[in-house]
Amino acid sequence: MTVLLLVEDDAVLRGGLKELFMREGYRVIEAGSVREAREKLDDTVQGIVMDVGLPDGDGIALCREWRARGEMRPILFLTAKDEEFDVVRGLDSGGNDYVTKPFRMQELLSRVRVLLRSGAPKNALTRDGFTVDETRMQITKDGAALPLTLTEYKILLMLLESRGVVPREKLLEALWDDGGKFIDDNTLSVHMSRLREKVGTDRVRTVRGVGYQWRDM
Ligand code: CA
Repeated sequence: MTVLLLVEDDAVLRGGLKELFMREGYRVIEAGSVREAREKLDDTVQGIVMDVGLPDGDGIALCREWRARGEMRPILFLTAKDEEFDVVRGLDSGGNDYVTKPFRMQELLSRVRVLLRSGAPKNALTRDGFTVDETRMQITKDGAALPLTLTEYKILLMLLESRGVVPREKLLEALWDDGGKFIDDNTLSVHMSRLREKVGTDRVRTVRGVGYQWRDM
């Protein structure tokens, strides 16, 4: 049975959510504060659904604290429209997703299903001496971690995952989606040239007018 840790200080909402999750076959561990959440996060928990505004602190700070000590289980934030919730701050803290209150129950359930899938261990992608560790967002070359920025990591991951040419538009779209900050064509070129310095200039082939392609050596 899948176990969720539900952190929400509004007892009525928490009760309703607990019932909803239980009807879907989840086991729910409840917490109403940061302190309780820390206490109740045990080894059985597979995913965390957490309110941002808690009486004794904030869910984002708790998420950051957990990630800092290597806690990798997926976290979905519940945020209220009137609460100060900055999407970038939330996701930067290591949160995987968020829904804004009031939300539809069905939407929350489907997000949680996706969340739990994303938390499942992925097979490490290895190609041509490069190994991707998606949990740690790290790529190693012959065992040594490459000093990549987050953007370079994402670009390299897309290149390694594709056997063909990765279109510029697809890269721009992926980078835009994640960070919320727009990256234009020139910025992409700059990231690409920095990435090339780190992986080897001839590793990434430019296909003029189309995009980029990884080159196995
Ligand atoms: Ca709250």
